[in-house]
Amino acid sequence: MSAPLLQVETLDLYYGDAQALAGVSLEIAEGEIVAIVGANGAGKSSLIRSIHGIEKPARGHVRFDGTDITGWPSWRVCEAGVGHVAEGRQVFPNLSVLENLEMGATPKRARALEKQTLERVFSMFPRLAERRRQAAGTLSGGEQQMLAIGRCLMGQPRLIMFDEPSLGLAPTIVQEVFRIVRRLNEEGLTILLVEQNVMASLRIAHRGYVLENGRIELEGPGADLLTNDRVRQAYLGL
Ligand code: ATP
Repeated sequence: MSAPLLQVETLDLYYGDAQALAGVSLEIAEGEIVAIVGANGAGKSSLIRSIHGIEKPARGHVRFDGTDITGWPSWRVCEAGVGHVAEGRQVFPNLSVLENLEMGATPKRARALEKQTLERVFSMFPRLAERRRQAAGTLSGGEQQMLAIGRCLMGQPRLIMFDEPSLGLAPTIVQEVFRIVRRLNEEGLTILLVEQNVMASLRIAHRGYVLENGRIELEGPGADLLTNDRVRQAYLGL
């Protein structure tokens, strides 16, 4: 088997005295969609933020494409090819759609391809093309989510980590977000997906991990987790 694209090894993270992650290990192969499932406060965002260099783990390693990126600053993790669509979208509200997208093309590799990537983003999200001069803060929630995804794509990532991409969106837009995640994967991107919509995320995931109180308690193919009694009771309300 080829080496995983992302490898997280026995990660511990603390906020003061409170432990948010305890010995978390996981792997994502190139081309996979991997879902992380867990209740509020289980540590899902902390895990993504640790991989992305925003939080500094006390112990453990993060390897991307064979390189140890543990403790690297976020900009360097981005340069290496790890994209992050953060919870709450976090577009720059006073900048235009176009300016927001341009801000995403900071990695060196991405700058050289900026024009082509912009065309790709506009063809994927025609509403962003129509609204390219509009201030991002005046877009609808769904449009802002598309912009956040587009901005991430501008950085030419190989792996995208999505933190609750459908949070607070109308049901039709939620479906659209899942379609986009699947399409990006079909186009070759590797995906780490954290989603409160557990059913939909396990349906599109090749594999999933269940995180409880900062520990991985269960892992397996998405289809197996969907039929697992513990998952059905705790996360699907069945
Ligand atoms: P949710 O689904 O509610 O976003 P989550 O699974 O993403 O939850 P985290 O946000 O990673 O969980 O939080 C894990 C634990 O760490 C929680 O107990 C939370 O209160 C705590 N925590 C998160 N961020 C901080 C912080 N900056 N300072 C202190 N504690 C934090």
